[in-house]
This record gives sequence, structure tokens and C-alpha cells, in this order.
Amino acid sequence: MNPSGITALVTGGGSGLGEATARALAEKGAKVALADVGMEQAEKVAGEIGGLAIRCDVTSAEDGEAAIAAVTEKLGPPRILVNCAGIAVAMKTVGKEGPHPLDLYRKVIEVNLLGSFNMIRLFAAQAQELKPLAGDERGVIVNTASVAAFDGQIGQAAYSASKGGIVGMTLPIARDLARAGIRVCTIAPGIFKTPMLAGLPEDAQASLGQQVPFPPRLGEPSEYAALACHIVENQMLNGETIRLDGAIRMAP
Ligand code: NAD
Repeated sequence: MNPSGITALVTGGGSGLGEATARALAEKGAKVALADVGMEQAEKVAGEIGGLAIRCDVTSAEDGEAAIAAVTEKLGPPRILVNCAGIAVAMKTVGKEGPHPLDLYRKVIEVNLLGSFNMIRLFAAQAQELKPLAGDERGVIVNTASVAAFDGQIGQAAYSASKGGIVGMTLPIARDLARAGIRVCTIAPGIFKTPMLAGLPEDAQASLGQQVPFPPRLGEPSEYAALACHIVENQMLNGETIRLDGAIRMAP
């Protein structure tokens, strides 16, 4: 799909990978809405790209419905959904410090996995009713997993499960939506220089970068955004999870 003139909804669009993707899609001529819980940042980015900021907690059915309705009213029905909203929490092992707290596990699964699913189901329900574009396409969805889905580290059970769930649902949803002309792909990023990493000191960030075989550095959000745009534009990409990680394989 050529994003020019098309409405795109980017969750987590106020920061990091979502922000970079919102900017890249806007540069390609898309009308971009940013759905986020962090309104100050989202409004700042929206102001800079001539987009629309919407307060939306992706875990809420009501917020998701209201966000789709607001985008449709103000920018037209969205045909592109990029799911970037997500949280990473402090490492917590399953056993050493006693039983892993259930509320922490639930929170991570709820935001990262259920939140993505919530937005997909609402987006798909309206996109399947739209007039098809060239190539019989009605919509495209880009999700964000993580390399933690494949080689999660100590203390990352909840985060890895949430991201593994996104990888797992990518193909079945692509098959569900194939007849409607809606594609679904997932990007599994390695380690990217975003506010999510801000808790780590600079030297720890640099040493993480050195663990990447090539290029030996952290990923730039613009590199994620470029792949998200490529998925939007390349109609043959569907049902796929693509690692974007410089070949890093995380040590335990
Ligand atoms: P970030 O913290 O910079 O951005 C995340 C955004 O999501 C924020 O704007 C935040 O307000 C928003 N958000 C959080 N909970 C939300 C909710 N319930 N509803 C709506 N918005 C919500 O982080 P980022 O690094 O840009 O991460 C984006 C995605 O990429 C996340 O899913 C993250 O797990 C994934 N990821 C990041 C990295 C990395 O190295 N940065 C690596 C792999 C995967």
C-alpha cells in the first residue's frame, strides 16, 4: 500500500519506535494519528508532523473504540495500524525471590499482548468494510514483538511471554484477515535507542551495543520505522515476523 494520503494509526506514537514510525509515515504523505497514554509527548509529536494525538490506553475496549472513531471522524478511516505501545518492566525471576508476582505478569501481558490484540480486532472490524485499494488491499497491520520472544533472558518470563504471544498470533490473524485484503506482519526488534532504555546508564547501553555482531551498536528508531514503512508498501509481505537485530542472540 502506498501510504500517501492514507490514514495511519500508530499506538505508542508519542515515543521511541512509534514516534519514529509516525514521523516516517507522515513524511510519506500519510495522515497520522498517535494513540498513547502519554499525551504531552504525543501532542508534541502530532504538532510537529501535522497529525492527531488521541489519549488511548490500548488495554481498554472503550478507549480503542473511541480512538478508531476519533481518527475516522478527523482524518478518515485508518487503513494502517502500527502497534508500538508497550512496556518493559524491571527483571523479576520466577523463583529466587519467592513466587513471581502475578499482578506484574498480568500487567505486562495485558499491555503488550492484549493491548495489541485489542487494537487489531477493532481496526480490522472497520477496515474490512472499506472499499479496496489497488491490488484489492484494504489494510495493513504492523506489530512489535522483540527478540525476547525467541531468546529471553533471566527475569524476563512475563515480557518474553507477551512478545512470544505477538509472534504466535501474527500468522493466524493474517490468515483470518486474508480474505478481507488486510495484511499482518510483526517486527521483532533487537536493542533500540529509545526512552525505554533510558533507565540504563550510557556505558551499559554502549556495552549492549557492542554485543551486536553487526553493526556493533544499538538500533536507531528510524531503522525500525523504515522496516515498518517497507511492510506497509510491500504487498507480498504477510503473516511474517521479521527480526531486526543485527544478528544478536541474547546471552542468558
Ligand atoms: P517507549 O517507552 O519509548 O515507547 C512506548 C510508548 O508506549 C510510550 O509512548 C508509552 O506512553 C506508550 N504506552 C505504554 N503503555 C501504553 C498503553 N497501555 N496504551 C497506550 N500507550 C501506551 O518504548 P519503545 O522502545 O519505543 O518501545 C516500543 C515497542 O517496541 C514496545 O512494545 C517495546 O516492547 C518494543 N521493543 C523495544 C525495544 C527497544 O530496544 N527499545 C526492543 C524490542 C522491542
